[in-house]
Amino acid sequence: MEEVSYMALGASRLFLTEADHGCFSVVLHHGNGAEDRLPAATPAELLIAASDIDYTDYRREVQRLWDEHPLFEERLDIPVADLEDFVAEALLLPSMLQDRDPVSFFLLGELLHRSLQMQDDGSASFLLKAGYQILRVLREPFRVQTYLRNILEVTFDGMERVSQQERFEKLKQVYPDVAQICDPALLDHVPEGQRSFAVRNLFGLYLLELALYFRQDKQRIARCDYCWRYFIPKTKKATRYCDRVTDGFPCKERGSRFKRNLISEQDEALKICEQLRGRMYARLLRWQEAAPTERDRLIPMDYDDYETWSENARLARAEYLLGKLTAEAFLQKIDTTHELESYEAGKAELVEETPWQQRVAQRWDFDPEIFYPESMMVLDTTPGKKGEWEILTRDDLRRQDQKGHQSLRDKYQKDK
Ligand SMILES: [Zn+2]
Repeated sequence: MEEVSYMALGASRLFLTEADHGCFSVVLHHGNGAEDRLPAATPAELLIAASDIDYTDYRREVQRLWDEHPLFEERLDIPVADLEDFVAEALLLPSMLQDRDPVSFFLLGELLHRSLQMQDDGSASFLLKAGYQILRVLREPFRVQTYLRNILEVTFDGMERVSQQERFEKLKQVYPDVAQICDPALLDHVPEGQRSFAVRNLFGLYLLELALYFRQDKQRIARCDYCWRYFIPKTKKATRYCDRVTDGFPCKERGSRFKRNLISEQDEALKICEQLRGRMYARLLRWQEAAPTERDRLIPMDYDDYETWSENARLARAEYLLGKLTAEAFLQKIDTTHELESYEAGKAELVEETPWQQRVAQRWDFDPEIFYPESMMVLDTTPGKKGEWEILTRDDLRRQDQKGHQSLRDKYQKDK
């Protein structure tokens, strides 16, 4: 596990300090003794705010520096001027975060300062190493946010109706190493009221907020069915949508309308057919990604197999839509690999996790921006377009993996 440590060698330090009514403030203690106290909020509010920070443009700039800066070009000798130029550019980037993420801005200042004090032995490898180290520091805010989002997903997605204890148990089951660190029992000996914690780095801060979250029962975190961001329901009643406005419309309004359409539009058997297709496609991708030596633990699925499956499903689907097949017969016909337990409509639903959920559960540092290529050529096998190549973007690939369990917003966007 890579982790950039924030050590209190200098006088700069980061604290999470208790204010009134179960609220906490992040305190930035600067080297010169000055202190910035950020607005107090509950642990749930702090976690949601952190998962919502938009790093898109910042991340693009960091990536551009890595892609384009001559320091990282392959060659025998590296001029010192390249590192100096790289450092000058790198030092400009944190200011992009000053307003939206003052904690990262503060930590980056400290970490970059420390990186610049690395001992220079004048070699080309030193210059490269220094460059990599600075990049690693710059990536820290969005890298840690990725961890946080995965943790929130396994803990709060589909968990709106359960107890805090059950949410923690779920986290413990999926990411035991994370749960160990944010176990609320670790704070048992700390008297409530004037708690103040020194924090070493951004990830440490988020895990501490999680531990504090699990120690209370006044607020719960839920995931909005429409935008898929996290929110705090105002009452104890089951709540599906947040109060945000997404794409110009309240999530509540769009969500409930889409939900109604979805129920009337989507025939159960057709839905299962799509889920099966998603499963076959995931199998194909896994098969192709795997090295030959890893393939013996996979279910074989090459392009020909996938094509055969799709063609058969296409014909069966057409017959079903014409009324020539019952729902049961249709499902029986497309289930060539015997995945379904029953063909009775309404009972045959696949409850298996989506490829996306599996990837998130596998590792808490799963990062879609790294995992999915920016774009990929894929043979379109949907009826009517058979044989056409299309370009799928990273977003399309993500959506494909989430099919069967995704935000209502995504579900509808793909159809537009
Ligand atoms: Zn929402």
